[in-house]
Amino acid sequence: MLLVGNGQMITRDSAVPYYPDGCLVIRDNVIMEVGTTTALRQKYPDAQFIDAKGKFIMPGMINTHMHLYSTFARGMALKDAPPQNFTQILERLWWRLDKVLTEEDIYYSAMVPLLECIKNGTTTIFDHHASPGAVKGSLFGLAQATKATGMRACLCYEVSDRDGSAVRAEGIQENVDFIRYANNGSDELIRGMFGLHASLTLSDETLEQCSVANSGLGSGFHVHVAEGIADLEDALAKSGQRVVERLASFGVLGPKSIAAHCVHVNEQEIAILRDASANVVHNPESNMGNAVGCAPVLTMLNEGVNVGLGTDGYTCDMFESFKVANILHKHQQANPSVAWGEIPTMLFQNNPTVAAAYFPKPLGRLAAGCFADVIIVDYNPPTPCTEQNIDGHILFGMSGGSVTTTIINGKVVMHERQLTNLDEAAICARSRELSSKLWERF
Ligand SMILES: [Zn+2]
Repeated sequence: MLLVGNGQMITRDSAVPYYPDGCLVIRDNVIMEVGTTTALRQKYPDAQFIDAKGKFIMPGMINTHMHLYSTFARGMALKDAPPQNFTQILERLWWRLDKVLTEEDIYYSAMVPLLECIKNGTTTIFDHHASPGAVKGSLFGLAQATKATGMRACLCYEVSDRDGSAVRAEGIQENVDFIRYANNGSDELIRGMFGLHASLTLSDETLEQCSVANSGLGSGFHVHVAEGIADLEDALAKSGQRVVERLASFGVLGPKSIAAHCVHVNEQEIAILRDASANVVHNPESNMGNAVGCAPVLTMLNEGVNVGLGTDGYTCDMFESFKVANILHKHQQANPSVAWGEIPTMLFQNNPTVAAAYFPKPLGRLAAGCFADVIIVDYNPPTPCTEQNIDGHILFGMSGGSVTTTIINGKVVMHERQLTNLDEAAICARSRELSSKLWERF
């Protein structure tokens, strides 16, 4: 039994959202009890105690759209002229990089951001993977990395037509094999989804094959939707339908599915997403960096769509995504009064809803019966902190670098900024060796 206490505790549980001096009790991988430090230390005098020393105790962050494989692009020079639009970014960067990834590259390009997730307080990720030169076994290799770090992860392989029918078939099979392995297993840290790249790289025949392959597996699809304008133009040209309409016609969008981005969607498409109970994931920094536009996130939330928050691999720090989402929509609408409530809802309510479709106990909340995914954040509020203004303190006072301790599934993976069972220097050294070789092949 493990107690984490003597901290200001933000529970995200409506019963008691904030304890000035909170404590929680962990048994195995589950939170058993939540209360005050004095009461719980008296009740469990022999339990191991992690002293938060007045810092903030919070639920671990959930990132609902991530690309671990993107790591080796950091600092890499492109070989073509600088991309002028999103399609050129795909063609000149990502589709050249993912083609040359080897099995070992996949492992190390995952290990580095997984460590960064732990250091920044992210405890669950929904990853979207591509490695057309090494498809078979790629999700199992990724799962080895997530297991080595202790991360909770839901993985998928992005099927597309861009590398021909043999690679397409391998991608479909990898999703099927991994979903069968992960979703029937007893390991509560790992799950699988059916990955699709995006409408613009998927023919009707492929969408049909994927829909058939996924039927009966009980999993949803994880797909990029109307991220760039080219996806919309392609869908209209191929089918006369917009992207959401086209994907919905193949049964791709359901309550367990993730539609990442949804930048270029109209009112009818928003209604389809809502009626299908599909999850949308917003990635503000990525959208701004790729200059694809601003997703109508506030409209989608108003219309009742479950919109969560991700990073698209742009960062491992959900505090950063939270800050940028907050200002992006104010800037876009030229209105400083918007997005104060919606962005916290996306991160702290809607991301846990996405996670609940896959993981067997609640996440994102410190309450009895939830998974023990907990972080301690070093922040000393300069103004009064109450249950009414918690989000203002998180927004303006905290960042991923403030996280000192990370617990996932009841296991302490970082304690007082020390990773407990991983050699970060060795992992980064091997990553540098492999990435320098990949840059030559790129
Ligand atoms: Zn993405």
